Amino acid sequence: MKQSMTFIPTLREVPADADIKSHQLLLRAGYVRQNASGIYSYLPLATIVLKKIEQIVREEMNRAGSSELLMPALQQAELWQESGRWYTYGPELMRMKDRHSREFALGATHEEVITSLVRDEVKSYKRLPLNLFQIQSKFRDEKRPRFGLLRGREFIMKDAYSFHASFESLDEVYEKMYQAYSNIFSRCGLNYRAVIADSGAMGGKDTHEFMVLSEVGEDTIAYSDTSQYAANIEMAPVINQYEKSGEEAQSLEKVETPDQKTIEEVASFLNTSKEQLIKSLLFKVDEKFVLVLVRGDHEVNDIKIKNLYGASIVELATAEETKQSVGVMPGYVGPVAVSSEVEIIADMAVQAIVNGVCGANEENFHYTGVNIERDANVSQFADLRFIKEGDLSPDGQGFIQFAKGIEVGHVFKLGTRYSEAMNATFLDENGRAQPMIMGCYGIGVSRTLAAIVEQFNDEKGIVWPAAVAPFQVHLISANAKNDVQAEVSDKLYADLKEAGFEVLYDDRNERAGVKFADSDLIGIPVRVVVGKQAADGIVEIKDRKTGEGMDVSLSDLTGTIS
Ligand code: ATP
Ligand code: MG
Ligand code: MG
Ligand code: MG
Repeated sequence: MKQSMTFIPTLREVPADADIKSHQLLLRAGYVRQNASGIYSYLPLATIVLKKIEQIVREEMNRAGSSELLMPALQQAELWQESGRWYTYGPELMRMKDRHSREFALGATHEEVITSLVRDEVKSYKRLPLNLFQIQSKFRDEKRPRFGLLRGREFIMKDAYSFHASFESLDEVYEKMYQAYSNIFSRCGLNYRAVIADSGAMGGKDTHEFMVLSEVGEDTIAYSDTSQYAANIEMAPVINQYEKSGEEAQSLEKVETPDQKTIEEVASFLNTSKEQLIKSLLFKVDEKFVLVLVRGDHEVNDIKIKNLYGASIVELATAEETKQSVGVMPGYVGPVAVSSEVEIIADMAVQAIVNGVCGANEENFHYTGVNIERDANVSQFADLRFIKEGDLSPDGQGFIQFAKGIEVGHVFKLGTRYSEAMNATFLDENGRAQPMIMGCYGIGVSRTLAAIVEQFNDEKGIVWPAAVAPFQVHLISANAKNDVQAEVSDKLYADLKEAGFEVLYDDRNERAGVKFADSDLIGIPVRVVVGKQAADGIVEIKDRKTGEGMDVSLSDLTGTIS
C-alpha cells in the first residue's frame, strides 16, 4: 500500500481527552477517529489489524468445530420480551421504534436471536450439538464509555453459541472453546490469564474470563504464576464507583438499623473476639474494607423474608449453624459496602447479623451509598473473600498476586436459561421434549486490538507483535525527490510484494524526519530505508522493537528480513 494514496492521519500532539496509552496511540498513529462518545471509525490501518485478529479468531473457531453465520443487528423486542431481558437488561440496551411504532433493540448480544433461530429448525437430538459463531458490531449504551476502543458503545464482537442434548456434551464443547480462546490470545501475542469469573446477570454456572494483564484494566484478578488458580475478584467496579462519590461515602455512616448492638456484644454472643469477628467478616482490597452480603430467600423465625440481605458469615459457621444462630442462610453474595474505615463496615456487618437483614432492603442500599452491580455465586466467591496478596492459593501451589485485567473474552455455560424461557426444545432418544442446553462464548475483537496496543508500545509509538501487525515491512524512501532513491524504492516495493511481503510504502513528499516519526508511531516490525547509499545498492533495515539497524545490500534484503 502506498502511503501517498491511503489515509493515515498521524498527530504530533497527545490528544487531550485520551488518558490511556492505547487510546492515545491509536489516535496519534492514525488508526481510529472518534465520531461520538464510544463510537469510532476504524481507518485503513486499524481495519487491516482487525481483519488479522478476525482471521485468527475464524481459524480457531473453525478448528473448534464452530461454523460462521451472520445474524441481524436489528432485533425485534418480542424476542427480548420472551427471554425476559427486555425488562431486566436496563438502559444499556439501545431501544428504538420503527415507522409502525414496533419496538426493536440494537443487538447487545445474540442469545435471543440464535435461540429462536435454532428452536425453529432443530427438533431432534440427532442434530445436536450445534456450534455457531459470528463477528459483528454490537451496541451497548455503556454508562461510562471510555478508554477508546476498550469500552465503546458500538464495538466489534465475536460471539458463539452452542446447543446440546446433554450437559456432558456442553462440557466437552466448553473445553474446546476454552482451548480455542487460549490459542487465539496466545497467537495475538498477549500476556493474559484465564480466570474464574462471576456469573453476573447472565444466569448460569461455569464461566471463565480471559484477562489481558494491564494497569488500565477495570477488573482485579487474583492469580499465581506457579499455580493453575486464577480468579476475578470482582471488587474493582464497586471500589471505583465508591471512590468517585464523596456524597455516597458520607451517607454510609447514616445507616440505621432497628436493633443496634455493639461489635463487642455480638462477638461475645458468637463466642469469639472482636478482632476475630472483624477479620472473619471483612476483607481488604486496596486498603479498603469490603462487606459481602448474602442475598436470597431466608427463613427467620418461621417468617419468610424475601429478597432481603444478610451478612455472609460462612467463615464463622456452616450454613446450617449460621441459619440457626443468626437466621441467615448464605445464598448469593455481592460486595455491597466499601470503606477505609474498618469500624463503619464492621458495624454494618454486625447489624446485619443481629437483624438478619442489615436493616435494609434494595432501596436502602442505594440510600447507603452502595450499589449492587452484580451477584456472585457463593461457591466461587467464598474462596475469594479473604484472599490477599502473598497468600498461599487455594490449590496450595504458589502465592497469590493481584493484577488489573482487561476482559477480552468470556466463555459461559448458560444451561437452559434461554431455552426454557423461549421454549427451545428437542426430542430426545425416547421421544421426550427436553430444553436445549446452551453455552455462549464472546470475544471483544475491537477491545483486543486496543489491549494489544496497551501491552505493546514504547515512548515512540506502537510496537506490533508480528502476527497482527498491519504490514510486515515499512519501506521508506528518505528523499522521494531524489530520482535514484525514488527509482530504487519503487523497484524494491514491487520486488518485496512479488516476494510475498506485506509492505507499506512511504512514498510521500515529506521530510525524512517526519517519515521516521510516523513510522515509529505506526509500529510495523521491520523498517527498510532507502537513503543516500541507494546509489551503491545499499539500504538500511531497522527493527522496530529493538531499534537495531544495519546496512544491507539490495541483493541480500529479502533473505535478511524474512
Ligand atoms: P465488561 O465487563 O467489560 O463490561 P461484559 O462482561 O459486559 O464486559 P460480555 O457480555 O461478556 O461483556 O461480552 C463479551 C466480550 O465483549 C467481553 O469479554 C469484551 O471483550 C467485549 N466487550 C463487552 N463490552 C464491550 C464494550 N463496551 N466495548 C468493547 N468491547 C466490549
Ligand atoms: Mg458490560
Ligand atoms: Mg464483564
Ligand atoms: Mg463478560
